[in-house]
Amino acid sequence: YTEEPWRSFNRSRVYMSDLESALHYSLRVELSAHTTISGDDLTALKQYITVLTKYFPGRPAIKGALKAVENWLQEQEGTEIQYSDFRKALDSTVLSGDAVLPAGVRWVGCQGSQPQYRGYPCAVWTLFHVLTVQAKASGSTDGLEVLRAMRAYVSSFFGCRPCATHFESMAQESLSDVTSPATAVLWLWSRHNQVNNRLAGEPSEDPHFPKIQWPTPELCPSCHSLKNGGEHSWSKDQVLDFLYNYFSAERILPDYLQ
Ligand code: FAD
Repeated sequence: YTEEPWRSFNRSRVYMSDLESALHYSLRVELSAHTTISGDDLTALKQYITVLTKYFPGRPAIKGALKAVENWLQEQEGTEIQYSDFRKALDSTVLSGDAVLPAGVRWVGCQGSQPQYRGYPCAVWTLFHVLTVQAKASGSTDGLEVLRAMRAYVSSFFGCRPCATHFESMAQESLSDVTSPATAVLWLWSRHNQVNNRLAGEPSEDPHFPKIQWPTPELCPSCHSLKNGGEHSWSKDQVLDFLYNYFSAERILPDYLQ
C-alpha cells in the first residue's frame, strides 16, 4: 500500500470520483472473485448493470461503457458467463466507442483516515442512495427496481459477507414496505441509519468519521423535530426533500476525477 495524499473535500457533498471508483472496484475487483457467473448470480449481475445503465448519472464515457456491457450481457445466450469475457466487454473500446471506466480508485468524500477505513463500502452506500434518487427523478414507477438490484448484488457479490447477511435480513424484514420510488429512497436512508446505529463504537468505525444518525441537525435542521413528550422524531417529508437534493445528479461534484 502506498500512501496517497489527503484530498481536501466538503463533508456535505457527494463526489463523482467516489461513484466511479465504486464502479471500478465492484466490476473489476469484487466481481473478479467469481470465475464463472451463473444462476442467481448472473441474474443479480444483469439487474445491477441494468439499473446502472438506466440511472447512473455519469459522464458520457462511463455511460457508454455501462451500455456496452449491458448490450453484451443481453447477447449472452448460455446459462453462464466467464468473468474474463465480461471483463473484456467492459474494457472494450470497440464495443463502447472509446468509453472505459477509470483504471483505479480515487476516494474523495469516502477517504478514510487510515487505509482500512471507509473507501468502497462508503461508496457502495453512496452509489445506491444516488440510484434510488435518480430512479425517482426519472419518473420510474417500479419502486423496488433499484433496491431489488442492490439486494441481489449484495447477496451475490458484496465482499463483506457479514454485511451481506445483515442487509439480507433487513430486506426480508421490511423491503415489502416499499411501494414507490419515494418510499425506496426513505427505506434505504432508514436502513442505513439502522446500520450506523449498530456499528457505532465498533472497531470498523473510522474515529474521524463517527457513526451518527444522519443527516445531523447541522446538515438538515428541519429534518428533526420533537414529539410532545420531548422525544426525537424525524420529519419524513423534510428528510425526503433533503435526500432528493443531497444525492441529486446536479449536485454531485466533479473534483479529482481521473
Ligand atoms: P457509511 O455508513 O459508509 O456512509 C457513507 C456516507 O453516506 C456517509 O459519510 C454520509 O455522508 C452518508 N450517510 C450516512 N448515513 C446515511 C443515511 N442514513 N442515509 C443516507 N446517507 C447516509 N460494516 C460492518 O462492520 N458490519 C456490517 O454489518 C455492515 N453492513 C453493511 C451493509 C451494506 C449494504 C454496506 C454497503 C456496508 C455495510 N458495512 C458494514 C459497512 C459500513 O456500513 C460502512 O460503509 C463503513 O463502516 C464505512 O463507514 P463510513 O463512515 O464511510 O460511512
